[in-house]
Amino acid sequence: MTLSPARPVRPASVTDTFLQQLVARVPGSRGSWPLTEVYTGDVLVGLPQSSPADISAAFEAARAAQVSWAALPVRQRLAVFKRAHALFVGRARTVADLIQVESGKNRRMAIEETCDPPMVMSHYLRRAPRLLAPRRRGGPVPVVSSSTEIRVPKGVVGIIAPWNFPFATGISDAIPALMAGNAVVLKPDNKTALSPLYGVQLLEEAGLPRGLFQVVCGEGPDVGPALIDASDYVMFTGSTATGKVIGERAGRNLIGCCLELGGKNPMIVLPDADLTAAVSGAIFGAFGNTGQICMHIERIYLPESRYDAFKDAFVAKAAALDVRASYDFGPEMGSLVSVDHLRRVQSHVDDAVARGATVLCGGQARPDLGPAFFEPTILEGVTKDMLCGVTETFGPVVALHRYRTVDEAVALANDTDYGLNASVWGRDLRAASAVAARLETGNVNVNDSLATTYAAKGTPSGGVKASGVGARHGDQGLLKYTDVQNLAVLKKQVMSPRLGQEYGKYVEGMLTGLRLMRRFRIR
Ligand code: NAD
Repeated sequence: MTLSPARPVRPASVTDTFLQQLVARVPGSRGSWPLTEVYTGDVLVGLPQSSPADISAAFEAARAAQVSWAALPVRQRLAVFKRAHALFVGRARTVADLIQVESGKNRRMAIEETCDPPMVMSHYLRRAPRLLAPRRRGGPVPVVSSSTEIRVPKGVVGIIAPWNFPFATGISDAIPALMAGNAVVLKPDNKTALSPLYGVQLLEEAGLPRGLFQVVCGEGPDVGPALIDASDYVMFTGSTATGKVIGERAGRNLIGCCLELGGKNPMIVLPDADLTAAVSGAIFGAFGNTGQICMHIERIYLPESRYDAFKDAFVAKAAALDVRASYDFGPEMGSLVSVDHLRRVQSHVDDAVARGATVLCGGQARPDLGPAFFEPTILEGVTKDMLCGVTETFGPVVALHRYRTVDEAVALANDTDYGLNASVWGRDLRAASAVAARLETGNVNVNDSLATTYAAKGTPSGGVKASGVGARHGDQGLLKYTDVQNLAVLKKQVMSPRLGQEYGKYVEGMLTGLRLMRRFRIR
């Protein structure tokens, strides 16, 4: 029997007028796209769709605004973000309302997402003055020469963002680009354009010059080529398959790109792990954001001796999760983003079952809760001939595996094309960290599933293998949006023979100079 879902009361802030005003900034001579409320399937607003001509005009306006923005002293640019930080924190509830209506995630996760841009702002407000200041490096010959490293903005940065964290990826990745003196043209996913549009509005309220941050919308393959061709650098977050298309095009245009892609992230529970903590960590790691976190856990490796105890506690906790459509803080898990995505998740589970896997809990869609709800699902007996054994499911589906030795667990965890995130649990932190160091991933969390690495804004975070190229956060998360100009000054010409000097004598002098510089550690 299919029950009709209980209709949650939409947040009061999400009015037609507000939504119309948000989408009004999107240039759209290609008609509109019906953006829906995930919990109900109701159309919220028609999202304008941008044509290549619209995209070209957006870049022209961004380029014009960038010139005077880049000419401002860094401190003046940063002042905008000091004001924006307060605004973003003050309006977090409205941002969460928008994130929830467009993505269907639960409120707890939506409010956590609102914290990401302020965290990124705080970090780079501290670091940017030093990172962007000219650095005297010294020239090849002491005293008479100097060389200075000057950071020059790329120009206009194209950002292509996914739907799973639309506000965090759309806005947080733009912040260091803007601080460095660039303009930005953002293409969010059609499904989740509202929260990033509001983010741009808040930045402008804080004083960001109008025109500097443009938003264009459309299906990826329609608008992607025009956007990449007009960009000076591309920041992409999304699937590995799309990342390869973006990287190829950026390469052809000889522009840089950062690709933050998918994962098939493992968690290893070591024999000495605190099982209660590991089970809680696995619940968040597997089912947080309804399993739609690039760094979320899809494979759990357990020692034979603790397999049954972990399984019993994990299944009991997963089955008891409060899964519902609601705009309050009650539910522990929300909806998948769309019915299309639900079909993908269901197909992974059905394929696994057809090939011999066992469902320990969940495994079904829940149309009684909303059009795209899926149960927290735990599988056992997943093998590499199954879809979910090798490719990213990106839903609330996780598989349990046994291991006999730690070496075997490491080998199994590394047996994947991906390398985004991993998690290791153990009471002996040194031993757990040693295991972590053997994992082929860009991020690895000890005694946490994913949040600690992502929230550490001072350290670069990116994927290796098929999970990406480059990183966000850390110094390179800002410096990647700049080119380096090496400005060298020679006060006196000493790097060629003096007039009439025999070349052999000049060479002798040069070699002596090299020896002295090494001896006195000059350069
Ligand atoms: P996706 O690759 O389908 O789409 C991502 C974005 O790219 C969307 O805006 C989409 O419209 C656009 N796009 C699609 N095809 C394009 C094309 N040919 N040219 C230009 N743009 C194009 O990914 P998705 O399904 O929206 O997002 C989920 C994926 O993102 C998962 O694989 C997840 O792991 C990954 N992800 C990675 C990170 C990370 O930091 N590594 C973070 C979030 C999500």
